[in-house]
Amino acid sequence: MRTGLSVSEAQQAILGVTPVLGAETVTTRGAQGRVLAEPVFSDRMLPPADCSAMDGYAVHRADLAGASASSPVSLPVAFEVAAGAQADRTLESEQVARIFTGAPMPPGADAVVMQEDTKAGEGDLVGFLVEPGPRDHVRDAGEDLCAGDRVLEPGTVLRSAQLGLLASLGRSVVAVHQVPRVAILSGGDELVEPDGDLSGGRIASSNSYTLAAQCREIGAESIYLGIARDDPDDIEAHLRAGLRADCIVSSAGVSVGDHDHVRPVLEKLGWRLDFWGVHIKPGYPFAFGGFGDDASDRRPLVFGLPGNPVSASVTFDQFVRPALRKMMGHKTLFRPTIRARLGEALEKKAGRLHFVRVRLDRDEAGELVASSTGSQSSGILTSLTVAQGLLIFPAEETSLAVGQTVVVQVLDDEVFGGHAAGF
Ligand code: AMP
Ligand code: MG
Repeated sequence: MRTGLSVSEAQQAILGVTPVLGAETVTTRGAQGRVLAEPVFSDRMLPPADCSAMDGYAVHRADLAGASASSPVSLPVAFEVAAGAQADRTLESEQVARIFTGAPMPPGADAVVMQEDTKAGEGDLVGFLVEPGPRDHVRDAGEDLCAGDRVLEPGTVLRSAQLGLLASLGRSVVAVHQVPRVAILSGGDELVEPDGDLSGGRIASSNSYTLAAQCREIGAESIYLGIARDDPDDIEAHLRAGLRADCIVSSAGVSVGDHDHVRPVLEKLGWRLDFWGVHIKPGYPFAFGGFGDDASDRRPLVFGLPGNPVSASVTFDQFVRPALRKMMGHKTLFRPTIRARLGEALEKKAGRLHFVRVRLDRDEAGELVASSTGSQSSGILTSLTVAQGLLIFPAEETSLAVGQTVVVQVLDDEVFGGHAAGF
């Protein structure tokens, strides 16, 4: 088993053995946020026929030569075409047809004049105040899509526009990558459920709440295995309940303390731990196991997270989250990073990459400024609750100066929000 990996070595080791999950068919309505597992082709023309883009009048352009507000041309309305109607009547010259948005163009007509460029005349006469250009306000058949067009690639994340497009192609079901099921285990004699009895120095177990929410944030499913005592048999009993999941995420007990029994239990159950210990802060005692010694022996990937709440959350973010996204078929595995100016000097020892909890504020020029949210201790969850990003303090750097440009992983997309008032 390897030990003392860099953050990127650990990420590569994990992603190297993380499978992309297979496809399943789901309803398009329920497919939001899922990743497409098939190419989607158009089986039809969109729009299916030439149609009007406006409420107004279908016309022969030639009839309106020279029309203007000062010398309108008046023509009679011969018939009306509504959206959904058949375009079965031909428009004769010196006639117009009342037409509505999305209605098919009657044969013979070659432009639409919008209602705002007309005025009502006597009887069925309408006055035209403009001379339309060729095919003004006409949507051509197939101008969006033709039959056979390849419209969505596998790997596309299905957001609102893609779902609408699928529906417009008549696709009520779609093939997407399966979502991973993540079994979450907490461990430690000191832990009780948040509503449990805290006497005798017990503490409320919070990691399962944080980690389940981190799964949900990216659309992965979580299964809660409960709290195991610091006892190999109890850990084994809890772990067995997670053997059918795609991943097991265990927080605490994976370190080298006398009460850290998770690792021996995993080994007993047949996992080969790939590595233990990553040069990251918070979160050094992180462990990962892919498969048993026989690679065909597929079993859940096991992530052994440190117990301290911030270590658990940060190592989930750096190591588990990208793996889950890969399983779900995503191409973008890592959180976005931005550049910001550092608001205060930071120092550390060389050796570990630090993820520093920072706030991101804008200065007068609108530039982002990163500043620490307070204590960076691995047990202090409050400084994570107000963090909008994690500043990457590279392993070998020992100091960062005020005003220096730093790289920050963004946790909160409100950071990108503009000031909406006044475009
Ligand atoms: P360990 O990794 O078992 O040495 O735990 C490190 C620290 O994290 C200890 O202070 C534990 O009490 C705490 N801890 C472990 N598991 C949890 C949990 N599920 N929720 C909150 N704190 C925890
Ligand atoms: Mg413990």
